[in-house]
Amino acid sequence: MKVKKNDTVLVLTGKDAGKTGKVIGSDPKANKVKVDGINVQKKSRKARKANETSEIVSQVGAIDASNVMVVCPACNKATRVGHTVIDGKKVRVCKKCGASLDVAPEAKKAVKKAKAATEAKETAPKKRATRAKKTDKTEQGE
Ligand SMILES: [Zn+2]
Repeated sequence: MKVKKNDTVLVLTGKDAGKTGKVIGSDPKANKVKVDGINVQKKSRKARKANETSEIVSQVGAIDASNVMVVCPACNKATRVGHTVIDGKKVRVCKKCGASLDVAPEAKKAVKKAKAATEAKETAPKKRATRAKKTDKTEQGE
């Protein structure tokens, strides 16, 4: 299947045509995908037990994978998916700009590292700017 979980896709047909969303689930056997916020169906659920309340439940319905196009994270365009082999691994590439649509494991690690670094910075104690005050005092004393 050309569409994978966490891909951003453009919907081509149906009531949500033209919308984009993130793939939250896929069913390769049926060639169907579930896209966040797309084909939301409302179902009313009746209370069956004493402690339940009747409610309307919104749930995302599966749509055919052939009705969506992957949006390339590099060029931000809906594109057809090409394939190439990098380091012995088959990866999906954007047919428009050639960028990989699959995040390489190394890149994922780098993202994690960067995240950890920023978190460390935030927790580090901040230096207090007391120097300016001290110099003022010595000037007054003279
Ligand atoms: Zn692209």
